[in-house]
Amino acid sequence: MSESVDTLFTNAIVLTMDEKFTYYEHGCLAVRDDCIVAVGAEAELKEQFTAKEVVDCQGKVLMPGLINAHTHAAMVLLRGLADDLRLDVWLMGYMMPVEREFVSPEFVRLGTQLACAEMIHSGVTCFADMYYFEEHVARATAEAGMRAVLGQTVLKFPSPDAAYYEESLAAARQFIQGWKGHHLIVPSVAPHAPYTCPPEILKACSELAVEFDVPLHIHISETAQEVENMRNENGMPVVPYVKKQRLFEAKVLAAHCVHIDDGEIKTLVNHKAGVAHNPSSNLKLASGFAPVSKMINAGLNVGIGTDGAASNNDLDMFEEIRLAAFIAKVHTNDPTVLPAQTALAMATRLGAKALHIGHLTGTLEVGKRADLIMVDINRLHNVPRFRRDPNNIYAQIVYAGHASDVSDVMINGKWVLRNQQLTTLDEAALLKQAAVYSERIDAFLIEREQSVLSKLIAIGGATEAESFEIQIKVRLQERAPVIEAIHRAQIEILHYRHYHEFDTYFSFDDPAQGRIRYREDELIDNNDKVQNVRYRLTHLGEERERRYPSEVLLSRSRFLAPAVHSLRFYREYFKPASETTIEKERLRWRVLFQGTEFFINIDNITSPQLGSYLEVKSRTWSRLDAEHKSHMAVELIRYLGADPENAVDQEYLALQSTSD
Ligand SMILES: [Zn+2]
Repeated sequence: MSESVDTLFTNAIVLTMDEKFTYYEHGCLAVRDDCIVAVGAEAELKEQFTAKEVVDCQGKVLMPGLINAHTHAAMVLLRGLADDLRLDVWLMGYMMPVEREFVSPEFVRLGTQLACAEMIHSGVTCFADMYYFEEHVARATAEAGMRAVLGQTVLKFPSPDAAYYEESLAAARQFIQGWKGHHLIVPSVAPHAPYTCPPEILKACSELAVEFDVPLHIHISETAQEVENMRNENGMPVVPYVKKQRLFEAKVLAAHCVHIDDGEIKTLVNHKAGVAHNPSSNLKLASGFAPVSKMINAGLNVGIGTDGAASNNDLDMFEEIRLAAFIAKVHTNDPTVLPAQTALAMATRLGAKALHIGHLTGTLEVGKRADLIMVDINRLHNVPRFRRDPNNIYAQIVYAGHASDVSDVMINGKWVLRNQQLTTLDEAALLKQAAVYSERIDAFLIEREQSVLSKLIAIGGATEAESFEIQIKVRLQERAPVIEAIHRAQIEILHYRHYHEFDTYFSFDDPAQGRIRYREDELIDNNDKVQNVRYRLTHLGEERERRYPSEVLLSRSRFLAPAVHSLRFYREYFKPASETTIEKERLRWRVLFQGTEFFINIDNITSPQLGSYLEVKSRTWSRLDAEHKSHMAVELIRYLGADPENAVDQEYLALQSTSD
């Protein structure tokens, strides 16, 4: 008496990817509803079952679907938008501004559909996502018939779907409540990273994940810089820091873990955290080499991810698996490290465990969900076939297999790809819609890139603030008489400071763009020690607004903000046509002269050696006030013993220093 099932796969090389790497050269697998009910040798199983559908696999490999352990699916719509940049410039300069402008439920839905189509074609049956409007990611994913662990992003910055972190945390709670128990979707919470989430956010996310017993998805130790900053600010590396924030009370999926030490690996093992290794992304952004073989040997569940398409640039897991194996070998100088079998296990069984859904998927075992793929290994790039060593079959898939070798995909007992045709998504329609988005985003960036000021504003956290000031600057032979004059009775000193300043000016081909000044201000105390350092960014208008007699200038700076990024960041982001640097000692007084407030600066320009200058400045707000202050400034310069007829301006100094 034979047992009835829905689908019987025959004539397949079945790789179960179970703990023992059981495989059947002439294998067979039976599916009823959404589950695998039998797997084994064809000769035995064929007798045992009658099926509604018998699928002759024609000698292809039948194996568990691949698990993309870390991605930002909807970012396929940003594929190829900005490449060959450092992580900070790429993220803060391009991704985040474009996301703030474009990411909407509609964007996320289309992006997720495109990503699902691409992933299904390449044999992915399950993925872990972290993005915005995750509710819409979930709907699109469930409609496409894919399995996924989906994390609603929480971070301290305003994001496309939340102005404050409390809002995104509330959205995460609602999302989890709405999707918990779904047959394909496992909802989760995704605090973006320790450097974008203060301790209270990390704690709140961990509590939320524990409350609903769902995974917590986070980026950990992606770059050396991140770890260095963490050590400087908190005196410890990233893993102990997040542990202190009670992150590991939750079921953690940690993406990257590129720069972690042995102790941190131990901590991850102790807390049963999963790790997502992203070889292409780490290579492309030059983040470094994750200690993958160490992590695997320590017993960590390390999966493989593509990361978002903007930093990869595709979602091809075959490429990732191959790279994972290759990188581990070259990184340890040992070709025996991370053999093909282990690499493929990372993309299946270990990946499922890393996502904390190992009980559902990741292997072809009785009781698991029917998430499986058929791979043709009889193509030109993958023949002949050797059978002597059991590792041969894994090597064939890992080292010579292509994503396009995947012919059929079943998820949760349902076909999503049949003879390389998608059954749940309209590929042609999706391609058309993607083209519409790329045109809109292109137009937005082209407009932004035309103006230095709008580029500056785009990197966020900053508002446009116009300020006007009159200024006059003269060359100085001797400083002592001026300092003496400042201390005379007619001048009331309100404030005195000593600075060491390093200015970098960025100039552009079109002078109408104005210039950007990056200033590092070291405040020097009475003992000649640096008391504190301040970094500021100023956008200087191209033209002097107005000139008054004796070279008194009315200048305009349209933007002034603390420089939160490095000089290197701004250089790579603005791509100036030329750069000028000036180093100077500045003595600065804020004074009242005949009832009017002025700043008096005595600058000794040390690099290039341009000598000493006296500068008198005052903020102004109206034309009448500017006229009045320009006369006063000339008077003050005279009072200090200098000749206003010898005035020069900053522009002149900058030019002089470039010619040096
Ligand atoms: Zn990522």
